[in-house]
Amino acid sequence: MNIHEYQAKECFRAAGIPVPPGEIATTPDEAEAIATRFGGMVVVKAQVHSGGRGKAGGVKLAKNAVEAREHAARILGMDIKGLTVEKVLVTPAEDIATEAYVGVLVDRKSQAATFMVSAEGGVDIEEVAATNPEAIRKLTVDPRYGILPHQAHWLANYLYDDPGLIKQATKIMMQLYRAFVDSGASMAEINPLITTPSGEVKAIDAKMSIDDSELFRRPGIEAMRDISSEPAAETRAREAGLSFVKLDGDVGCCVNGAGLAMATMDLVKYYGGEPANFLDIGGSSNPDKVVAALEIITSDPNVKVILFNIFGGITRCDDVANGIVEATRRIDIEPPIVIRLTGTNEEEALAILADAGFSAYTSMDDVVETAVKMAKA
Ligand code: GDP
Ligand code: MN
Repeated sequence: MNIHEYQAKECFRAAGIPVPPGEIATTPDEAEAIATRFGGMVVVKAQVHSGGRGKAGGVKLAKNAVEAREHAARILGMDIKGLTVEKVLVTPAEDIATEAYVGVLVDRKSQAATFMVSAEGGVDIEEVAATNPEAIRKLTVDPRYGILPHQAHWLANYLYDDPGLIKQATKIMMQLYRAFVDSGASMAEINPLITTPSGEVKAIDAKMSIDDSELFRRPGIEAMRDISSEPAAETRAREAGLSFVKLDGDVGCCVNGAGLAMATMDLVKYYGGEPANFLDIGGSSNPDKVVAALEIITSDPNVKVILFNIFGGITRCDDVANGIVEATRRIDIEPPIVIRLTGTNEEEALAILADAGFSAYTSMDDVVETAVKMAKA
């Protein structure tokens, strides 16, 4: 789950990281009132789950409250990488001497939290990594001990020469690790971490992704979820208890079990097709889940065919068959449906499907090959 900059800043503040104050506005009037309260120059910042807001015109400096109002009027409702801006953060403008990058993320290769820091901040870190990888210092953190003071110092020392700045940045590295662990994050990033002409180190941007599996024990962070910022299909899938990931292909997949879902996607690729999604309807799937799954799959206009691949173990094939029939009764499903099911209550399922005019395959190869051909036709 992604959270907004203003929410990530709350987590950072809670861990002690120096972050300028800020307030949220949903209208130009509110932005003007907040800017008046702060006085002086402010920055108006689009709150969307995307980086590169600055380049897209979603971060604007305002000399006074009237200008803040004008910027807010322009930014609110703006489209940034397909996301509509519904809120802006109004925050006092900082004087910037330098901009650095500090990030920590779960690195799959080292299977641990890994810091990345670079004195080349403000810009895309992916770009620095691609064009100038030696400008990034990395540190893998041993989860048993967390980041140790000398390690934090080693990172800070890469960013600054001045002992005063190094001292502040060292503390910020430790605090960022704390915020990262306490929030159950998979990624926490400060870009830029600035120094001011008067020698202070501060985080003026904040980005965090939370590991979905950490949310159940962090209701405070779960409450930060902004449904308007996530794809509608993902919200619907989560509410229905389905594991769903949207992909770019045209073969809609509805499978029980994550392993079988992965194998099905592999087979779709093997036969020259492209899956439109990963969807695991879970173990004991009742008909309602199947209906929800079909609603989600058909909401994707790219889907040309719907492929069911069910291995009935705990899942009963007749439940799935009932779900398919029920769904076709409840909603208009345009793409053709091809079904393979085998296992528990297979006979009953085939009878239910036959009554409703469907036929089913037993071979996984056959059904996938057919689905791919239909998507291409
Ligand atoms: P992003 O583009 O989505 O990463 O948004 P940022 O919050 O990082 O802002 C983009 C850029 O705007 C920063 O790298 C700064 O150069 C500039 N900026 C943001 N806040 C301030 C500020 O308070 N003062 C000044 N002078 N520039 C700022
Ligand atoms: Mn940034």
